[in-house]
Amino acid sequence: MPSFVDPAKCDGCKGGEKTACMYICPSDLMVLNVEAMKAYNQEPDQCWECYSCVKICPQGAISVRPYSDIVPLGGIVQPMMSSDSIMWTIQFRNGNLQRFKFPIRTTPEGSIDPKNAAHKGKDLASERLSDEEVDNVTLKRPIAIHGK
Ligand code: SF4
Ligand code: SF4
Repeated sequence: MPSFVDPAKCDGCKGGEKTACMYICPSDLMVLNVEAMKAYNQEPDQCWECYSCVKICPQGAISVRPYSDIVPLGGIVQPMMSSDSIMWTIQFRNGNLQRFKFPIRTTPEGSIDPKNAAHKGKDLASERLSDEEVDNVTLKRPIAIHGK
């Protein structure tokens, strides 16, 4: 099931030309009711629950009501990103609220210096990734498959 905007929380991204949810939706589903300054999902059937709009909304106004593959029908799911973790808030239809927090990185945010990373490949013509070159990984070649 699709994303839903809580009109009590949505501020229309304070009247910007393009709201954050409009900008991020890969299917162009989110639109802004300019008079009400509230966004909404214009075609819920087309929403594939990518959660991009939920994560980007600065007001935490969007949630997803997923199919029973994640939570039982009628539940509401809302992820919240921080610099080192993501917290999923699940509201079950009986009112129970549970939160699950997962780390999303193993190093502190901003601590990696990609330009001076120790594992930096030198061969720009190589088809291997930088780390693969340093680790001397041999790339597997595709196998030709002929139709019958
Ligand atoms: S990103 Fe959030 S606050 Fe901004 S318009 Fe969309 S729902 Fe409203
Ligand atoms: S969940 Fe993904 S597809 Fe659905 S409205 Fe939000 S950004 Fe668009």
